[in-house]
Amino acid sequence: MTISKEMYELGAKRSTIRELFEYGKQQAAIVGKENVFDFSIGNPTVPAPACVKESMIELLENEKSDVIHGYTSAQGDFEVRKGLADYMNNEYNCQLKADNFYMTCGAAASLCITLKALTASSSDEFIIIAPFFPEYSVFIKSVGAKDVIISADTDNFQIQMDLLEKAINSNTKGIIINSPNNPSGVVYSEETLKCLSDLLRKKSKEYNKTLYLISDEPYREIVYDGIKAPYVPALYENTIICYSYSKSLSLPGERIGYILVPDEVESSKDVYIAVCGAGRSLGYVCAPSLFQKVVLKCLGKTSDVDLYDVNRKMLYDKLTEIGYDCVKPDGAFYLFVKALEEDAVSFCENAKKFNLLIVPSDDFGCPGYVRISYCVDPEMINRSFDAFQKLKELYK
Ligand code: PLP
Repeated sequence: MTISKEMYELGAKRSTIRELFEYGKQQAAIVGKENVFDFSIGNPTVPAPACVKESMIELLENEKSDVIHGYTSAQGDFEVRKGLADYMNNEYNCQLKADNFYMTCGAAASLCITLKALTASSSDEFIIIAPFFPEYSVFIKSVGAKDVIISADTDNFQIQMDLLEKAINSNTKGIIINSPNNPSGVVYSEETLKCLSDLLRKKSKEYNKTLYLISDEPYREIVYDGIKAPYVPALYENTIICYSYSKSLSLPGERIGYILVPDEVESSKDVYIAVCGAGRSLGYVCAPSLFQKVVLKCLGKTSDVDLYDVNRKMLYDKLTEIGYDCVKPDGAFYLFVKALEEDAVSFCENAKKFNLLIVPSDDFGCPGYVRISYCVDPEMINRSFDAFQKLKELYK
Protein backbone atom coordinates (compact mmCIF):
# COMPACT_ATOMS: atom_id res chain seq x y z
CA MET A 1 0.00 0.00 0.00
CA THR A 2 1.42 3.40 -0.92
CA ILE A 3 -0.86 5.27 1.41
CA SER A 4 -0.73 5.45 5.21
CA LYS A 5 -1.68 2.03 6.57
CA GLU A 6 -2.41 3.62 9.93
CA MET A 7 -4.80 6.20 8.48
CA TYR A 8 -6.39 3.59 6.22
CA GLU A 9 -7.12 1.36 9.21
CA LEU A 10 -8.52 4.27 11.18
CA GLY A 11 -10.82 5.22 8.30
CA ALA A 12 -11.87 1.65 7.52
CA LYS A 13 -12.95 0.92 11.09
CA ARG A 14 -16.16 2.73 11.94
CA SER A 15 -16.60 3.43 15.65
CA THR A 16 -19.00 1.11 17.51
CA ILE A 17 -21.21 4.11 18.25
CA ARG A 18 -21.45 5.04 14.55
CA GLU A 19 -22.11 1.38 13.63
CA LEU A 20 -25.01 1.24 16.08
CA PHE A 21 -26.37 4.57 14.91
CA GLU A 22 -26.39 3.35 11.28
CA TYR A 23 -27.89 0.00 12.35
CA GLY A 24 -30.67 1.90 14.15
CA LYS A 25 -31.59 3.75 10.97
CA GLN A 26 -31.76 0.49 8.98
CA GLN A 27 -33.79 -1.21 11.71
CA ALA A 28 -36.22 1.74 11.86
CA ALA A 29 -36.99 1.23 8.17
CA ILE A 30 -37.95 -2.38 8.96
CA VAL A 31 -39.77 -2.24 12.32
CA GLY A 32 -40.78 1.43 12.42
CA LYS A 33 -38.94 4.34 14.02
CA GLU A 34 -41.11 4.20 17.15
CA ASN A 35 -40.00 0.63 17.87
CA VAL A 36 -36.27 1.31 17.85
CA PHE A 37 -34.72 2.61 21.09
CA ASP A 38 -31.53 4.26 20.02
CA PHE A 39 -29.37 5.33 22.97
CA SER A 40 -26.14 5.18 20.99
CA ILE A 41 -24.97 8.66 20.06
CA GLY A 42 -24.38 11.86 22.03
CA ASN A 43 -26.20 14.16 19.63
CA PRO A 44 -28.01 16.80 21.75
CA THR A 45 -31.79 16.71 21.27
CA VAL A 46 -32.60 19.69 23.46
CA PRO A 47 -32.78 22.58 20.99
CA ALA A 48 -30.18 25.34 20.94
CA PRO A 49 -31.37 28.30 23.07
CA ALA A 50 -33.33 31.03 21.28
CA CYS A 51 -30.33 33.39 21.37
CA VAL A 52 -28.58 31.21 18.76
CA LYS A 53 -31.26 31.71 16.11
CA GLU A 54 -31.81 35.36 17.10
CA SER A 55 -28.14 36.25 16.88
CA MET A 56 -27.74 34.38 13.61
CA ILE A 57 -30.62 36.35 12.09
CA GLU A 58 -29.32 39.62 13.50
CA LEU A 59 -25.81 38.96 12.20
CA LEU A 60 -27.01 37.81 8.78
CA GLU A 61 -29.28 40.84 8.38
CA ASN A 62 -27.02 43.54 9.79
CA GLU A 63 -23.41 42.58 9.21
CA LYS A 64 -21.38 42.75 6.03
CA SER A 65 -20.69 39.41 4.35
CA ASP A 66 -16.94 39.57 4.90
CA VAL A 67 -17.50 40.13 8.64
CA ILE A 68 -19.64 37.06 9.14
CA HIS A 69 -18.34 34.75 6.41
CA GLY A 70 -14.79 35.98 5.91
CA TYR A 71 -11.58 34.74 7.52
CA THR A 72 -10.97 35.95 11.03
CA SER A 73 -7.45 36.07 12.46
CA ALA A 74 -5.97 32.57 12.67
CA GLN A 75 -6.53 32.34 16.44
CA GLY A 76 -10.07 33.76 16.19
CA ASP A 77 -11.72 37.17 16.10
CA PHE A 78 -10.26 39.54 18.69
CA GLU A 79 -13.65 40.88 19.86
CA VAL A 80 -14.91 37.33 20.34
CA ARG A 81 -11.87 36.32 22.39
CA LYS A 82 -12.07 39.55 24.39
CA GLY A 83 -15.76 38.95 25.11
CA LEU A 84 -14.96 35.41 26.18
CA ALA A 85 -12.22 36.64 28.51
CA ASP A 86 -14.55 39.22 30.11
CA TYR A 87 -17.25 36.62 30.56
CA MET A 88 -14.91 34.07 32.16
CA ASN A 89 -13.38 36.74 34.43
CA ASN A 90 -16.82 37.61 35.70
CA GLU A 91 -17.91 34.00 36.06
CA TYR A 92 -14.77 32.55 37.66
CA ASN A 93 -13.09 35.59 39.16
CA CYS A 94 -9.95 35.27 37.04
CA GLN A 95 -7.88 37.70 34.96
CA LEU A 96 -7.96 36.40 31.41
CA LYS A 97 -7.28 38.38 28.25
CA ALA A 98 -8.21 37.82 24.62
CA ASP A 99 -4.77 36.38 23.95
CA ASN A 100 -5.34 33.51 26.33
CA PHE A 101 -7.94 32.11 23.91
CA TYR A 102 -7.63 30.27 20.62
CA MET A 103 -10.94 29.62 18.82
CA THR A 104 -11.33 26.12 17.38
CA CYS A 105 -13.64 23.82 15.45
CA GLY A 106 -14.96 22.11 18.62
CA ALA A 107 -13.37 20.05 21.38
CA ALA A 108 -11.88 17.49 19.00
CA ALA A 109 -9.84 20.24 17.34
CA SER A 110 -9.03 21.81 20.72
CA LEU A 111 -7.60 18.50 21.93
CA CYS A 112 -5.66 17.70 18.74
CA ILE A 113 -4.12 21.18 18.66
CA THR A 114 -3.22 21.13 22.36
CA LEU A 115 -1.67 17.66 22.18
CA LYS A 116 0.33 18.61 19.10
CA ALA A 117 1.50 21.83 20.71
CA LEU A 118 2.73 20.01 23.83
CA THR A 119 4.33 16.94 22.24
CA ALA A 120 8.07 17.44 21.84
CA SER A 121 9.25 13.86 21.39
CA SER A 122 7.95 10.40 20.51
CA SER A 123 8.64 9.32 24.09
CA ASP A 124 6.09 11.82 25.46
CA GLU A 125 3.20 10.20 27.30
CA PHE A 126 -0.30 11.43 28.08
CA ILE A 127 -2.28 9.69 30.81
CA ILE A 128 -5.98 9.08 30.29
CA ILE A 129 -8.46 7.69 32.79
CA ALA A 130 -10.71 4.82 31.75
CA PRO A 131 -13.57 5.04 31.00
CA PHE A 132 -12.61 7.81 28.51
CA PHE A 133 -13.85 9.37 25.28
CA PRO A 134 -12.46 6.84 22.76
CA GLU A 135 -10.96 9.45 20.45
CA TYR A 136 -8.37 10.42 23.10
CA SER A 137 -6.19 7.47 22.10
CA VAL A 138 -6.55 8.34 18.42
CA PHE A 139 -5.65 12.00 19.03
CA ILE A 140 -2.66 11.20 21.25
CA LYS A 141 -1.23 8.65 18.82
CA SER A 142 -1.81 10.93 15.85
CA VAL A 143 0.58 13.56 17.28
CA GLY A 144 3.21 10.85 17.78
CA ALA A 145 2.86 10.53 21.57
CA LYS A 146 1.90 7.53 23.69
CA ASP A 147 -1.37 7.05 25.57
CA VAL A 148 -1.08 5.58 29.06
CA ILE A 149 -4.36 4.29 30.45
CA ILE A 150 -5.25 4.02 34.13
CA SER A 151 -8.64 2.94 35.43
CA ALA A 152 -11.00 4.99 37.50
CA ASP A 153 -12.33 3.53 40.73
CA THR A 154 -15.37 1.59 39.48
CA ASP A 155 -17.18 2.15 42.80
CA ASN A 156 -17.58 5.85 42.05
CA PHE A 157 -15.60 6.47 38.80
CA GLN A 158 -13.33 8.97 40.52
CA ILE A 159 -9.57 9.16 39.84
CA GLN A 160 -7.46 6.53 41.65
CA MET A 161 -4.64 8.79 42.81
CA ASP A 162 -2.39 5.87 43.74
CA LEU A 163 -2.63 4.46 40.20
CA LEU A 164 -2.03 7.88 38.75
CA GLU A 165 1.03 8.36 40.92
CA LYS A 166 2.47 5.06 39.68
CA ALA A 167 1.72 5.92 36.04
CA ILE A 168 3.63 9.23 36.11
CA ASN A 169 7.25 8.89 35.02
CA SER A 170 9.95 10.99 33.41
CA ASN A 171 8.19 10.69 30.00
CA THR A 172 4.84 11.96 31.23
CA LYS A 173 3.84 15.19 29.50
CA GLY A 174 0.36 15.51 30.87
CA ILE A 175 -2.95 14.05 31.79
CA ILE A 176 -6.33 14.51 30.15
CA ILE A 177 -9.34 14.79 32.43
CA ASN A 178 -12.95 15.09 31.39
CA SER A 179 -15.46 16.33 33.94
CA PRO A 180 -18.46 16.10 33.65
CA ASN A 181 -17.48 12.78 32.19
CA ASN A 182 -18.43 10.98 29.04
CA PRO A 183 -19.35 8.11 29.58
CA SER A 184 -19.68 7.87 33.41
CA GLY A 185 -21.49 11.16 34.09
CA VAL A 186 -19.18 11.77 37.06
CA VAL A 187 -18.23 15.35 38.00
CA TYR A 188 -14.92 15.77 39.81
CA SER A 189 -15.33 17.67 43.05
CA GLU A 190 -13.04 20.53 44.07
CA GLU A 191 -11.55 18.17 46.64
CA THR A 192 -10.67 15.56 43.99
CA LEU A 193 -9.14 18.23 41.79
CA LYS A 194 -7.12 19.58 44.73
CA CYS A 195 -5.72 16.09 45.38
CA LEU A 196 -4.93 15.78 41.69
CA SER A 197 -3.19 19.18 41.70
CA ASP A 198 -1.13 18.28 44.78
CA LEU A 199 -0.04 15.05 43.14
CA LEU A 200 0.88 16.75 39.86
CA ARG A 201 2.87 19.41 41.72
CA LYS A 202 4.69 16.77 43.74
CA LYS A 203 5.54 14.77 40.63
CA SER A 204 6.57 17.90 38.68
CA LYS A 205 9.07 18.58 41.44
CA GLU A 206 10.29 14.98 41.54
CA TYR A 207 10.95 14.88 37.79
CA ASN A 208 11.82 18.54 37.52
CA LYS A 209 9.43 19.10 34.65
CA THR A 210 6.06 20.69 33.90
CA LEU A 211 3.11 18.32 33.94
CA TYR A 212 0.17 19.69 31.98
CA LEU A 213 -3.43 19.10 32.93
CA ILE A 214 -5.62 19.11 29.83
CA SER A 215 -9.18 19.68 30.97
CA ASP A 216 -11.64 18.57 28.29
CA GLU A 217 -14.87 20.39 29.18
CA PRO A 218 -17.59 20.10 26.54
CA TYR A 219 -20.12 19.23 29.26
CA ARG A 220 -19.08 21.94 31.76
CA GLU A 221 -22.56 23.45 32.09
CA ILE A 222 -24.48 20.16 31.87
CA VAL A 223 -24.65 19.48 35.61
CA TYR A 224 -27.52 18.60 37.95
CA ASP A 225 -28.74 19.02 41.52
CA GLY A 226 -27.02 22.40 41.89
CA ILE A 227 -23.53 21.01 41.33
CA LYS A 228 -21.03 23.35 39.66
CA ALA A 229 -17.99 22.09 37.81
CA PRO A 230 -14.96 23.84 39.38
CA TYR A 231 -12.77 26.20 37.34
CA VAL A 232 -9.76 23.94 37.05
CA PRO A 233 -7.00 26.56 36.39
CA ALA A 234 -7.75 28.05 39.83
CA LEU A 235 -6.69 24.74 41.36
CA TYR A 236 -3.76 23.77 39.15
CA GLU A 237 -1.63 26.36 37.41
CA ASN A 238 -0.57 24.27 34.41
CA THR A 239 -4.11 23.68 33.17
CA ILE A 240 -5.13 24.07 29.55
CA ILE A 241 -8.88 24.02 28.92
CA CYS A 242 -10.31 22.43 25.78
CA TYR A 243 -13.87 23.66 25.42
CA SER A 244 -16.67 23.23 22.93
CA TYR A 245 -20.19 24.59 22.39
CA SER A 246 -21.29 21.27 20.86
CA LYS A 247 -23.20 20.22 23.96
CA SER A 248 -23.79 23.39 26.03
CA LEU A 249 -25.44 25.21 23.11
CA SER A 250 -26.48 22.04 21.21
CA LEU A 251 -24.31 23.01 18.25
CA PRO A 252 -22.20 19.92 17.46
CA GLY A 253 -22.55 20.34 13.71
CA GLU A 254 -21.35 23.95 13.76
CA ARG A 255 -17.87 23.00 15.02
CA ILE A 256 -17.09 25.76 17.47
CA GLY A 257 -15.06 25.81 20.67
CA TYR A 258 -11.82 27.17 22.11
CA ILE A 259 -8.54 26.45 23.84
CA LEU A 260 -7.72 28.46 26.95
CA VAL A 261 -4.07 28.84 27.94
CA PRO A 262 -4.06 30.95 31.13
CA ASP A 263 -1.02 33.11 32.02
CA GLU A 264 -0.37 30.87 35.03
CA VAL A 265 0.74 28.03 32.71
CA GLU A 266 4.52 27.67 32.74
CA SER A 267 5.93 29.66 29.76
CA SER A 268 2.33 30.39 28.76
CA LYS A 269 3.28 32.72 25.90
CA ASP A 270 5.38 29.96 24.31
CA VAL A 271 2.62 27.41 24.86
CA TYR A 272 0.14 29.77 23.22
CA ILE A 273 2.46 30.31 20.25
CA ALA A 274 2.86 26.52 19.95
CA VAL A 275 -0.96 26.24 20.00
CA CYS A 276 -1.09 28.74 17.12
CA GLY A 277 1.60 26.70 15.33
CA ALA A 278 -0.22 23.43 15.91
CA GLY A 279 -3.49 24.96 14.66
CA ARG A 280 -1.64 26.08 11.57
CA SER A 281 0.11 22.78 11.06
CA LEU A 282 -3.15 20.82 11.37
CA GLY A 283 -5.03 23.23 9.10
CA TYR A 284 -7.37 24.25 11.91
CA VAL A 285 -6.93 28.02 11.69
CA CYS A 286 -9.85 30.41 11.71
CA ALA A 287 -12.76 28.61 13.36
CA PRO A 288 -16.17 29.14 11.69
CA SER A 289 -16.58 32.88 11.47
CA LEU A 290 -20.35 33.23 11.83
CA PHE A 291 -20.41 30.92 14.85
CA GLN A 292 -17.55 32.72 16.57
CA LYS A 293 -19.83 35.76 16.52
CA VAL A 294 -22.89 33.75 17.54
CA VAL A 295 -21.21 32.32 20.65
CA LEU A 296 -20.08 35.84 21.60
CA LYS A 297 -23.73 36.90 21.63
CA CYS A 298 -24.76 33.80 23.61
CA LEU A 299 -22.18 33.96 26.42
CA GLY A 300 -23.65 32.54 29.62
CA LYS A 301 -26.58 30.91 27.83
CA THR A 302 -27.11 27.15 27.54
CA SER A 303 -29.66 24.75 26.17
CA ASP A 304 -32.29 23.79 28.73
CA VAL A 305 -30.39 21.39 31.00
CA ASP A 306 -33.58 20.70 33.00
CA LEU A 307 -34.88 18.68 30.06
CA TYR A 308 -31.84 16.36 30.25
CA ASP A 309 -32.43 16.16 33.99
CA VAL A 310 -35.94 14.82 33.42
CA ASN A 311 -34.47 12.07 31.19
CA ARG A 312 -31.72 11.34 33.70
CA LYS A 313 -34.13 10.83 36.58
CA MET A 314 -36.60 8.84 34.52
CA LEU A 315 -33.93 6.40 33.24
CA TYR A 316 -31.95 6.09 36.46
CA ASP A 317 -35.05 5.48 38.59
CA LYS A 318 -36.60 2.94 36.26
CA LEU A 319 -33.42 1.01 35.44
CA THR A 320 -32.42 0.70 39.08
CA GLU A 321 -36.01 -0.40 39.86
CA ILE A 322 -35.74 -3.12 37.19
CA GLY A 323 -32.51 -4.22 38.84
CA TYR A 324 -29.73 -2.68 36.76
CA ASP A 325 -26.64 -1.43 38.54
CA CYS A 326 -26.19 2.20 37.40
CA VAL A 327 -23.81 4.98 38.37
CA LYS A 328 -25.98 8.03 39.22
CA PRO A 329 -24.71 10.74 36.87
CA ASP A 330 -24.08 14.24 38.24
CA GLY A 331 -23.44 15.67 34.79
CA ALA A 332 -23.26 15.17 31.00
CA PHE A 333 -26.05 13.07 29.48
CA TYR A 334 -24.89 9.49 29.79
CA LEU A 335 -25.81 6.67 32.12
CA PHE A 336 -23.08 4.08 32.71
CA VAL A 337 -24.62 0.74 33.55
CA LYS A 338 -23.10 -2.61 34.51
CA ALA A 339 -23.70 -5.18 31.77
CA LEU A 340 -25.51 -8.32 32.91
CA GLU A 341 -22.68 -10.51 31.65
CA GLU A 342 -18.94 -10.03 31.60
CA ASP A 343 -18.83 -9.48 27.86
CA ALA A 344 -20.53 -6.13 27.26
CA VAL A 345 -20.37 -6.61 23.48
CA SER A 346 -22.39 -9.79 23.73
CA PHE A 347 -24.78 -8.08 26.18
CA CYS A 348 -25.36 -5.25 23.68
CA GLU A 349 -25.96 -7.82 20.91
CA ASN A 350 -28.68 -9.31 23.10
CA ALA A 351 -30.12 -5.85 23.69
CA LYS A 352 -30.44 -5.48 19.90
CA LYS A 353 -32.96 -8.37 19.96
CA PHE A 354 -35.31 -5.91 21.65
CA ASN A 355 -34.23 -3.06 19.34
CA LEU A 356 -32.40 -1.51 22.26
CA LEU A 357 -29.25 0.18 20.99
CA ILE A 358 -26.75 0.71 23.78
CA VAL A 359 -22.98 1.03 23.54
CA PRO A 360 -20.57 -1.54 25.02
CA SER A 361 -17.93 0.12 27.16
CA ASP A 362 -14.94 -1.67 25.62
CA ASP A 363 -14.03 1.30 23.39
CA PHE A 364 -14.11 3.51 26.51
CA GLY A 365 -11.33 1.34 27.93
CA CYS A 366 -13.50 -0.10 30.72
CA PRO A 367 -15.05 -3.45 29.75
CA GLY A 368 -18.18 -4.85 31.37
CA TYR A 369 -20.43 -1.78 31.17
CA VAL A 370 -22.72 -0.09 28.68
CA ARG A 371 -23.24 3.57 27.93
CA ILE A 372 -26.78 4.84 27.55
CA SER A 373 -26.99 8.24 25.96
CA TYR A 374 -30.04 10.04 27.31
CA CYS A 375 -29.95 13.13 25.13
CA VAL A 376 -33.02 11.63 23.44
CA ASP A 377 -36.76 12.15 23.21
CA PRO A 378 -38.31 11.39 26.65
CA GLU A 379 -41.15 9.59 24.85
CA MET A 380 -38.61 7.13 23.49
CA ILE A 381 -37.25 6.55 27.00
CA ASN A 382 -40.79 5.74 28.19
CA ARG A 383 -41.37 3.34 25.31
CA SER A 384 -38.01 1.60 25.93
CA PHE A 385 -38.63 0.34 29.48
CA ASP A 386 -40.37 -2.81 28.33
CA ALA A 387 -37.29 -3.69 26.25
CA PHE A 388 -34.98 -3.06 29.25
CA GLN A 389 -37.25 -5.31 31.33
CA LYS A 390 -37.14 -8.11 28.73
CA LEU A 391 -33.37 -7.81 28.47
CA LYS A 392 -33.09 -8.22 32.23
CA GLU A 393 -35.35 -11.28 32.14
CA LEU A 394 -33.08 -12.87 29.54
CA TYR A 395 -30.40 -13.05 32.25
CA LYS A 396 -32.56 -14.58 34.99
N1 PLP B 1 -14.61 15.26 24.40
C1 PLP B 1 -15.64 14.55 24.88
C2 PLP B 1 -15.57 14.01 26.26
C3 PLP B 1 -16.77 14.32 24.10
O1 PLP B 1 -17.79 13.61 24.59
C4 PLP B 1 -16.81 14.85 22.78
C5 PLP B 1 -17.95 14.61 21.90
O2 PLP B 1 -18.87 13.88 22.17
C6 PLP B 1 -15.70 15.58 22.33
C7 PLP B 1 -14.62 15.77 23.17
C8 PLP B 1 -15.68 16.16 20.95
O3 PLP B 1 -16.53 17.26 20.91
P1 PLP B 1 -16.71 18.18 19.65
O4 PLP B 1 -17.97 17.78 18.97
O5 PLP B 1 -16.84 19.56 20.17
O6 PLP B 1 -15.52 18.03 18.78
